[in-house]
Amino acid sequence: MSGKKSAPGATGALRDQLDGGSAHSVTPLDGALWLIRHGFPVFPCDHPRTPRCTGLHRTCDGSRGKHPTVAFTRAWTLDERKVHETFSRGYRNPAVAVGACSGPNGVRLLVVDSDRPGAIEDVASARGEQWPATMRVLTAKGHHDYLWVPATLKLGNGLGALQGEFDGDVRAGNAYVIGPGARHASGFRYVVDDPERPPVLAPAWLLDALVTRPHFEARRTRWRDASHPAAGQASRSARGLVAFVLDSRPGQRNNRLFWAACRAAEDGREDAREALLSAAVQAGLDEREAAATIRSAYNRTGATT
Ligand SMILES: [Zn+2]
Repeated sequence: MSGKKSAPGATGALRDQLDGGSAHSVTPLDGALWLIRHGFPVFPCDHPRTPRCTGLHRTCDGSRGKHPTVAFTRAWTLDERKVHETFSRGYRNPAVAVGACSGPNGVRLLVVDSDRPGAIEDVASARGEQWPATMRVLTAKGHHDYLWVPATLKLGNGLGALQGEFDGDVRAGNAYVIGPGARHASGFRYVVDDPERPPVLAPAWLLDALVTRPHFEARRTRWRDASHPAAGQASRSARGLVAFVLDSRPGQRNNRLFWAACRAAEDGREDAREALLSAAVQAGLDEREAAATIRSAYNRTGATT
């Protein structure tokens, strides 16, 4: 059959240049094998070189190479034979099922995703802290830092007090991150920065910040005397969640919607469903997909029967 072909045009040339030769260049299979050998459960995502997104979703937001091709919360693996089957066959990007990871003494995985190099270091130094040397995967825009957190701490994708302060996202619980060996749409290959450096325990200041409610408080104050002076506390908090969804950038919309819906469900806010759905649609999400996300959030927290 045909050998390795170069995609036409400058972008293709750049891709091939980024792809080939480098000592750090690894294939999706190499990356997936490295991950499972270090105890990180993997699953396949779309690869930007397939003609269409192979993600499971109904509608694609167009960010190629990032969408799970399986139901990743269940369909992850640590099995080497399975990894060979999945990643040797064709173009698939490896990703890590964050919530399925378990470290020494049952600690859970938290991934801090900096949208630019040094974003999390900036947060640390602004707080008079030093960011620890931990496992790091270089991404197209910045880096993923892998950290362990106590199993007793229920973290999600919320930034807590870092909201508005940190150029990036955090991933914990029912979440995933693209892994080393994966190829970004730009041609960049995700790569482990230092393969000998394991994740360390997350610093206490970070955990404190993440479990602190985001700056909804300020928004509530702003809205308190607005158009609905008689609105109760509950209604104001739903507005905070709605604003949180409306603030979403493409690529984080669904996660933020899920987070907001989980918080609403935990508070038993059945009435927040409609508001969250219209906020999601306004933020650009597909209505059916958004409805499914909200439903799964409410089902997850057992708020509905
Ligand atoms: Zn897609």
